[in-house]
Amino acid sequence: HVTKHFAVRGSLFRRGPRRVVHAVDDVSLSLHAGRIMALVGESGSGKSTFARLLAQLYPLTGGEVRYRGTAVRVRGGKALRAHVSRVQLILQDPFGSFNPVATIARTLSRAVRIHHPAKTAREQKAVIEDLLAQVNLRPARQFTEKFPHELSGGQLQRISIARALAANPDVFLADEPVSSLDVSIRLGVLNLLRRLVEDRGVALLYVTHDIASARYFAEDTTVMYAGQLVEAGPSEQVTQNAAHPYTQLLISSAPDPSRDDDAAPRDIGQPPSLIDPPAGCRFHPRCPFAMERCATQAPPRFELENGQWANCWLYADDAEAAEGRAENAA
Ligand code: SF4
Ligand code: MG
Repeated sequence: HVTKHFAVRGSLFRRGPRRVVHAVDDVSLSLHAGRIMALVGESGSGKSTFARLLAQLYPLTGGEVRYRGTAVRVRGGKALRAHVSRVQLILQDPFGSFNPVATIARTLSRAVRIHHPAKTAREQKAVIEDLLAQVNLRPARQFTEKFPHELSGGQLQRISIARALAANPDVFLADEPVSSLDVSIRLGVLNLLRRLVEDRGVALLYVTHDIASARYFAEDTTVMYAGQLVEAGPSEQVTQNAAHPYTQLLISSAPDPSRDDDAAPRDIGQPPSLIDPPAGCRFHPRCPFAMERCATQAPPRFELENGQWANCWLYADDAEAAEGRAENAA
């Protein structure tokens, strides 16, 4: 039930009444060892905030984060270090997450010192070489004396994965890990992450706006809209047989490489402001199937087949919903 609300006052130009940003509202999901879960949504859906809440970068407004069933309460140094050594965040822009005036060796040795304080300098150096080998950067000396700007985005993202590995984590939270990279090298970085999941049994949350990549990369897919989850299930189901009208919209607007038409990307409208989000179903102002109740009553979770579920009134057990479903299927 992870929840995060921020208070804001007025706008950039004027003081105004205090308002609340509903960045993440009652989000529950489970990550599993050796599996990849995609968390998909447009920018501003709250998915990055959610990943940061799992990493405990800032306190929750409500709900809790559990690690192997036990609530994580991070207050102060020791508990935070324990959490950081289990849960590592990988960010979208590798250039922004490195100190530009530190060599790669310096950055990595800092991470290695934190997580392997008992090792001698020589042992730490061996750990760094091993970390770089694990992300396919060999020989290490080709990279250790470089500064971030001397490396490509793909190399630097591999190094940020190596830095995360220094902590020997059980959970990776990767926030758009390949979105800032050249299309030609994205697959290599995703394959590297996939190998780490398989070989080391880590759990990976793959945060992305790209639902097409979720299909081939993640076993499970969860879709987030305006701070809430709207659909989840096995990726194959969610991407091939989307139940929620928002997921359907995301899929229909994703570029399809198998279709070579030059059609301009469809205008699919904008997500709502998270300040005072719409009542009822938050998607109702954009939904072509909205019914009367959608504007006032938040839809509950409806379990569908094959482990899929959706928060959408179309799956209610009544005549109006059945009519809506028929229209949706057509
Ligand atoms: Fe559309 Fe209503 Fe379903 Fe929301 S609950 S997605 S408005 S049909
Ligand atoms: Mg984001």
